[in-house]
Amino acid sequence: MTEDPLAEAGVPAPPVRLRGALDTLPAYTPGRPATVREGLTAYKISSNENPYPPLPSVLDAVREAAAGMNRYPDMAVATLTTRIAAHLGVPPERISTGPGSVGVLDQLVRATCDDGDEVVFAWRSFEAYPILVTLAGARPVMVPLAPGARHDLDAMADAVTDRTRMVLVCTPNNPTGTTVGAAELEAFLDRVPQDVLVVLDEAYVEFVDAPDAPDALAVHAARENVVVLRTFSKAYGLAGLRVGYAVAHEPVAEALRKAALPFGVNTLAQVAAVSSLEAGDELVVRVKDLVAERERTVAALREQGWEIPDQQANFVWLDLGEDTAAFAEACDAEGLTVRPYLTDGVRATVAEPEANNRLVEVAGRFLADHPR
Ligand SMILES: *Cc1c(COP(=O)(O)O)cnc(C)c1O
Repeated sequence: MTEDPLAEAGVPAPPVRLRGALDTLPAYTPGRPATVREGLTAYKISSNENPYPPLPSVLDAVREAAAGMNRYPDMAVATLTTRIAAHLGVPPERISTGPGSVGVLDQLVRATCDDGDEVVFAWRSFEAYPILVTLAGARPVMVPLAPGARHDLDAMADAVTDRTRMVLVCTPNNPTGTTVGAAELEAFLDRVPQDVLVVLDEAYVEFVDAPDAPDALAVHAARENVVVLRTFSKAYGLAGLRVGYAVAHEPVAEALRKAALPFGVNTLAQVAAVSSLEAGDELVVRVKDLVAERERTVAALREQGWEIPDQQANFVWLDLGEDTAAFAEACDAEGLTVRPYLTDGVRATVAEPEANNRLVEVAGRFLADHPR
């Protein structure tokens, strides 16, 4: 059927032209499901998901809304935006929603960065950061964590140049679990030029109990260039529905709405988030239980001799260095899927007590075999 003489002569077509930026990105590798072991419940503790099933009230609202899936979602996300604003005590004009806070972050990068502009963030931190920044044509500037697996805010301020459009502060930091202090954050913000956006990624804020943690909304209220990012994926247990938001001053919030993919937040996500805000009291109880489990697990691990930085999210960070892969395999052999990071360490989500107990057991045996 072909009328292309080159093709007829057997000359292969040239490869489709793709962006060079893609060459620097890793190919997507799907997470391995937990290996099934006879008589052993498998736990996937690699994605910081909420182990609790959805609240019945939230599930009912989603079921009811599912009957309208032939219609487009509310593009303005009006009800949810109003509820979030009321919940936080900020004007609705300052809220911009997206498909997960990763979706909102993507909008932020695309609203601020032209080719070659720079985005500063700590490393190791959230793995989506270098990917979103690179895909937008911007340059990731990765500043090593300070001892104690904490953000080195001084070094991050030093890394700001006249090409910097955005600085990401992940607090608590994924995957190391540490928060920045309120005072050091103020000192840092005093040093960052006021036309550079500073994003406080608070995906795990509900789990924070450190007395010196910043009040990000107050910091935002006082500074035009500060944005707070939050999500319904972790504490609210809606990871599968994809909804998150930014709290930003109006020029930025408006830019975010312009940069958004139309209809990005689907109807079920909108409905589930609204009814989750209404079920706040029930969710607070769950969050408290997870924080108590975190404290219990961290205490047991420290008792064994592990050195663990202050943990403020719904996961535990184990700084394993070269033993990272071996530890992840030891966990897998016991039906636990954890998240290994090359030769840095392992992140394990705080989950059901049985999963946490098993993690402690595996870690104890591992430490005996691999003294640190
Ligand atoms: C999980 C996570 C998010 C949120 O992800 P979404 O599911 O897209 O809302 C954002 N930032 C960090 C650091 C996270 O760990």
